[in-house]
Amino acid sequence: MLKGIAASSGITIAKAYKLETPEIIIECKQCDPQQEIEKFNKAVEVSKKDIAIIKEKAVGRLSDEDLQIFDAHLMVCEDPALCDGVIQMIESEQVNAEYALDSVAGNFISIFESLEDAYMRERAADIKDVTRRIKYHILGVNIADLSLINEEVIIVAHDLTPSDTAQLNKQYTKGFATEIGGRTSHSAIMARSLEIPAVVGVTDIMSTVKHGDMLILDALKGKVLINPDEETIAKYRVEARKYEEEVAALKEFKDKETLTVDDHHVELAANIGTPNDVAAVLENGGEGVGLYRTEFLYMGAKDWPSEEEQYEAYKKVLESMDGKPVVVRTLDIGGDKHLDYYDFPEEMNPFLGYRAVRLCLDQKDIFRTQLRALLRASAYGKLRIMFPMIATINEFKEAKQVYEEEKEKLVAEGVAIGDDIQVGMMVEIPAAAILADQFAKIADFFSIGTNDMIQYSMAADRMSEKVSYLYQPYNPSLLRLIKMTIDGAHAHGKWCGMCGEMAGEPDAIPVLLGLGLDEFSMSATSILRARKIVNSLSHKEMKDLAAKALKLETQEEVLKLIRSTVK
Ligand code: PEP
Ligand code: MG
Repeated sequence: MLKGIAASSGITIAKAYKLETPEIIIECKQCDPQQEIEKFNKAVEVSKKDIAIIKEKAVGRLSDEDLQIFDAHLMVCEDPALCDGVIQMIESEQVNAEYALDSVAGNFISIFESLEDAYMRERAADIKDVTRRIKYHILGVNIADLSLINEEVIIVAHDLTPSDTAQLNKQYTKGFATEIGGRTSHSAIMARSLEIPAVVGVTDIMSTVKHGDMLILDALKGKVLINPDEETIAKYRVEARKYEEEVAALKEFKDKETLTVDDHHVELAANIGTPNDVAAVLENGGEGVGLYRTEFLYMGAKDWPSEEEQYEAYKKVLESMDGKPVVVRTLDIGGDKHLDYYDFPEEMNPFLGYRAVRLCLDQKDIFRTQLRALLRASAYGKLRIMFPMIATINEFKEAKQVYEEEKEKLVAEGVAIGDDIQVGMMVEIPAAAILADQFAKIADFFSIGTNDMIQYSMAADRMSEKVSYLYQPYNPSLLRLIKMTIDGAHAHGKWCGMCGEMAGEPDAIPVLLGLGLDEFSMSATSILRARKIVNSLSHKEMKDLAAKALKLETQEEVLKLIRSTVK
């Protein structure tokens, strides 16, 4: 079994179709420049035709936005800096066309790859894709035509280029697994829009899997099982069918209101890591973004991201959410999240150490830059800002003070700022939950981070396999901390959400509803299922359920109670 990143949900079982990209060694040869220029020009023309055909085949299967990628590819083919550069090199150095193309394009690719902006870096992949095509045409190498596959397969590749992905025929391509790529790589974005299950970032899959091997692609958990036994296949077939039926049936909940049978409304929001994730939030009927983990913006950069770069990202999210609330969490770095360009202090327990708001309050320049970017973006939507890892009242006051200072400066500079920004906090440290009624006097809202709240209340490192049995979302001790937090918020007329993994768990929703949670934030693909659950429950009955759960002794008892009450 190999592990990777689940990039597009689903489970499929099929044979592996290995997409091998022929290894071509390009040598520098002295040639007749005229002939080489002709070869190059002809290869460019054929490539342009290929791209136009691929685009045509993809119309109706890809969104308009995704189709634009092919216009970008055509522009690469016509780019004077690239084409004239190649021709000039052939002429001045009298070298072969493929060599000139390789070196000129290579320069562009390294420039794009070295850029700070993650989106621009991804564009290096576009240039690679187009120049590979032109190179193959110069050399007369066959380019694999994925649209010709006529049996059910899971494609296994080092990487899939956008043009490879666009050619995938959903009827036969049951999924794909690639060695490289992250959630924002193009192949991942397209897989989501084509709804083809995909696992990316699977190290060594090319050397482990053989063409024709039987594979199970579990793109819910990010796993690839190679040549599994009959029993495992049978088990996954059941899982796959269950998942497909469930997804199809859930579509009807997209435009429904999130109301209980007795008309109690809660908000179902999504957790996102990048602006690109917003599309999936809207497709799945998300009522807002409940957690935007901004640290991914910092982790994908080569240096601290500038105010401008951050402003663009936040603005994009707010604009695309079109007036729906967006909770942006200020930088939560440290613990298990590191930066290439910053040396964290050596600590015995990094999760208990210098992270999140602690670092931001110590290095205020970093914090101020982010707050300014957020305040400037606030004019484009309904912004809610929250501080992570707040432990004391003084920390919250200090963070809020920095926010007020930056706001005042921007107002003095005449910058437009949203007029209904809320400033709240994550409740993920037990000390903050216990003092929630005091915090609620100064914070506009709470969002409970159960991932951390559980590790801190149980004193069990969330990264350690050995103590993972202590990850107990249903333990009455945790339910009591959650209750204290919600009650604290409500006592002062504030709302309380949850953005830890627990918020999207089907078993947890009934009891959280009963405890009075106002907002549930989860991965976009969990929203419709959550809405279906809320729609089927009575708020009054869930309050009774929660009251009983709080009096139990163990997590097992709580789960038994929930499962026997909610069928
Ligand atoms: C949490 O702690 O529950 C949370 C949502 O934050 P993160 O998982 O990013 O620490
Ligand atoms: Mg956390």
